[in-house]
Amino acid sequence: MFKDEMRQTPNKPLPIAVVGEAILKQQAIEVRDFDDTLNQLASQMAASMEEAKGVGIAAPQVHSPLALFIMASRPNERYPDAPLMEPLVVVNPQIVLRSLQLEKGEEGCLSVPGQRFTIWRHQTIVVRYQNLAGQWQHSELTGFIARIFQHEFDHLQGITLLERSQMPEQKLMAQEGKPQA
Ligand SMILES: [Zn+2]
Repeated sequence: MFKDEMRQTPNKPLPIAVVGEAILKQQAIEVRDFDDTLNQLASQMAASMEEAKGVGIAAPQVHSPLALFIMASRPNERYPDAPLMEPLVVVNPQIVLRSLQLEKGEEGCLSVPGQRFTIWRHQTIVVRYQNLAGQWQHSELTGFIARIFQHEFDHLQGITLLERSQMPEQKLMAQEGKPQA
């Protein structure tokens, strides 16, 4: 009976917000209720991400104001060199430490269709977040996974690649990062 009910709840993909929509400019709201509604939202976010072949998706991208995102790095058409990881639901994230060392890389965004940007990110970050059960997690991320985290974290501050790529420190990093030869 229970299984049948589960099967009748489709993980229906949700429409993805694109730049220009107000939800993408808002500061996300802390998740307080770790309930079925949150589980359902996470499932539908995962479905939307898979359908669009993304490696991450933040709640504001599916028109929800809540502070959560999913990371799911895996090699695909858009990111052939991406490492493989199990999809990870990240709720109420914080970046506790950022490495001084920076790395540049190409990024796209489901909400900025058809565009790629070269973005400088911290190579390593130490993060805290809650899982879907509300338990606090702590981990150190590096490379592409750290990049996804920083990209999705930006979405929760109302920042897309359009704003990030225009920030003065991006240009400064580009100058400082230039080879000396
Ligand atoms: Zn994005």
